[in-house]
Amino acid sequence: MTSTVIEVRKLAKHFGDTCALANIDLDVKQGEMLGLLGPSGSGKSTLLRHLNGLVRADKNSKSSIKTLGNDVQINGKFSRSVRTSRSQTGYIFQQHNLVSRLSVLQNVLIGALSSTPKWRSLSGNFTTLQKSKALQALDKVGLKQFAKQRVSTLSGGQQQRVAIARALMQDSKLILADEPIASLDPEASRTVMELLRSINKELGIAVVVTLHQVEFALEYCPRIVALKDGEIYFDGPSHDLNQSKIDQLY
Ligand code: ADP
Ligand code: MG
Repeated sequence: MTSTVIEVRKLAKHFGDTCALANIDLDVKQGEMLGLLGPSGSGKSTLLRHLNGLVRADKNSKSSIKTLGNDVQINGKFSRSVRTSRSQTGYIFQQHNLVSRLSVLQNVLIGALSSTPKWRSLSGNFTTLQKSKALQALDKVGLKQFAKQRVSTLSGGQQQRVAIARALMQDSKLILADEPIASLDPEASRTVMELLRSINKELGIAVVVTLHQVEFALEYCPRIVALKDGEIYFDGPSHDLNQSKIDQLY
């Protein structure tokens, strides 16, 4: 039985007079890899941020968002389970949100913490089991040999792979990635997309990734959701998103 990892109903969001999202319904099943497309300002980041409980929907909307079986928000109010939901969801940004003065290993270990870490207590406070799990995650992304190095000494693409290892450390069944390859060169972009695909396939982790390169989305994501002016313009298999639809989107 496949379970639903994302369930969005009637999501609407305004910023002042700007309508960022209008009446979004979205279901994502366990094990899916979904590319989220749309021109700049179409609402991609706003949607992902809602899924992770970082933004509240319009108060007067009859909206609901669930991830991994937990309520994130209902009618523009955060649910009590929002923290649980957040701690189980891996979130990756364009500018990898790593702590530059910490080592690669420490950055991955942060994924084992359920709340915001107290930096001073970060060293030495992890169990041997957690450390070996973090090393396994680093091995998975091909960076085990850099474990002790400061994360700031790594390239942009390598840093994104550390962010993915940290998400693996969370035992998440869901990864949300907002423009993870936007500041990478084509080769590093490919490595990161291959890695996302392999953890999706091998570990069954659902991946929702926003991309501005349509070609990458078509190549790596079996399902595409495209937003236009805050509404769903397309939702279907990537092979159904033909050139004329793409031309109308952008
Ligand atoms: P995308 O990620 O597709 O480029 P965004 O989700 O960032 O689009 O933005 C959607 C719309 O919402 C845009 O019009 C943007 O200007 C607006 N917006 C996003 N975040 C904020 C914010 N914090 N305050 C005001 N307007 C915002
Ligand atoms: Mg964005």
